[in-house]
Amino acid sequence: MDLFWHRRDLRTTDNVGLAAATEPAVPVYILDPTTADDFGDRQRAFVVAGLESLADQYRELGSQLLIREGRAEDVLRALLEEYDADSVHCNACYTPARRAQADRVQATVPLERHTDLVLVDPATLEASYPTHSQFYNDWEVAQKPEPVAEPTASQLVSADSIDAESELERIRTAIEIEPEIELPPTGSEAAQERLERFCERGIKRYNERRDDLTAAVERATEAVSRLSPYIATGMVGIRTVWETAGDALQDAVGAETKNVEKYRYELSWREHNYHLLATMPTLATENYNKPPNPIAWETDDEQFEAWKHGETGYPLVDAGMRQLAEEGYIHNRPRQVVASFLCKHLLIDWRKGEQWFKTQLLDYDPAVNAGNWQWIASTGTDSVAVRIFDPVAQMAKYDRNATFVTQYVPELEGVPAESILEWPTLSPAKREQIESTYPEPIVDRNPAYERAQQTFDRAFGIDR
Ligand SMILES: Cc1cc2nc3c(=O)[nH]c(=O)nc-3n(C[C@H](O)[C@H](O)[C@H](O)COP(=O)(O)OP(=O)(O)OC[C@H]3O[C@@H](n4cnc5c(N)ncnc54)[C@H](O)[C@@H]3O)c2cc1C
Repeated sequence: MDLFWHRRDLRTTDNVGLAAATEPAVPVYILDPTTADDFGDRQRAFVVAGLESLADQYRELGSQLLIREGRAEDVLRALLEEYDADSVHCNACYTPARRAQADRVQATVPLERHTDLVLVDPATLEASYPTHSQFYNDWEVAQKPEPVAEPTASQLVSADSIDAESELERIRTAIEIEPEIELPPTGSEAAQERLERFCERGIKRYNERRDDLTAAVERATEAVSRLSPYIATGMVGIRTVWETAGDALQDAVGAETKNVEKYRYELSWREHNYHLLATMPTLATENYNKPPNPIAWETDDEQFEAWKHGETGYPLVDAGMRQLAEEGYIHNRPRQVVASFLCKHLLIDWRKGEQWFKTQLLDYDPAVNAGNWQWIASTGTDSVAVRIFDPVAQMAKYDRNATFVTQYVPELEGVPAESILEWPTLSPAKREQIESTYPEPIVDRNPAYERAQQTFDRAFGIDR
């Protein structure tokens, strides 16, 4: 008999560590104060609601999820004794806090860590890659495991040997976190439904629609998958996502093939971000690609507040930030635009944006968030010191008729799309005449762009 310790893997299906635990496995989730900082409050609420779904899954299998509070090493040592179990299995996590937690457990009880969060174990690849395409070349040819089966009832400890009432009570107590936004449905079943629906209706046009912000409003879960909250919390296994997309690839004909391939390619970015975190645990706090000179951040608190609340006077930035506030999610295109606006146009340190996203996102992922913020800030992999997204040009290209902007910025609803697009460059008198309740731009478009370019050129020692 082994214990299986759930971490960022809230599911029974396609769970490598759970499948490896010697039967009958005793599943446990631990609310450990040393890793409480792993989540922002919104994601914590999503995870806690996900625990209820996980407990349901175990009940359907005739078993019971244990929920415990305390330091993982203490809880697991006590449970090993209580159940007279041999060892503990878990899936490897890569943040410094999670690694230190597993190291403490390993110093106390026999622990086996499995590779589950990624398709390819970062340790089996080179220690570093200068570009994503070099990473991709190795990653693409690496063996990708198939999904693993859900344990059967006989492979799990039976619910009879557990005081089910007190476990349920623990879940109910944990669940008393009030999310400040409406949460999407939680659990593996919800994740599976979303994955299947997307593979039926969306994936074959993914490349054509992934940047189309009208489609993002009108077909939110078809234009892109919106699976990220489920992947980030482990409510769906990454092998299952890969395989289901692989089935769609088999079915694809003509131009559909390129669309499905693009979806699978996006997953390689996620894997690359995990590789970066696994090889550089300080990814969320230190520049990955260190410029020879310091970046002269300005970090104006008032501008930071305006950014957080979607009041910068740049319609696409504000729409993105308000989508984040309302839904705990931003579509990737505006996600890039708001992040670039923060660290380039406003010259606010990317780490402040990374932390704010952590508090807001339901799909917050320590590897993917840090890796992307660094990519945008030109300090990550594939660095280009001049990578600056112009929010006006981005809107012209991806939201020309202002469908996305007006969905999230109601003040601009009756304003013609052309005027919304030009808003940051209109005269103050013209803006006042068109719509007096929407903010003035907090920085001037061209000078802010040039200031960013010069600041990053100086930091990276680029002479133009
Ligand atoms: C500044 C910034 C911060 C980000 N923070 C996060 C984060 O905390 N968590 C997170 O899951 N994603 C993050 N992303 C990546 C990306 O924006 C989201 O994964 C994507 O928008 C999620 O929506 P989706 O599931 O519909 O994606 P889809 O377009 O359907 O893509 C499918 C999956 O591929 C992966 N993926 C897609 N784009 C990327 C990318 N650029 N990098 C890595 N993986 C990707 C995700 O797992 C995603 O669910 C961030 C991007 C930026 C620019």
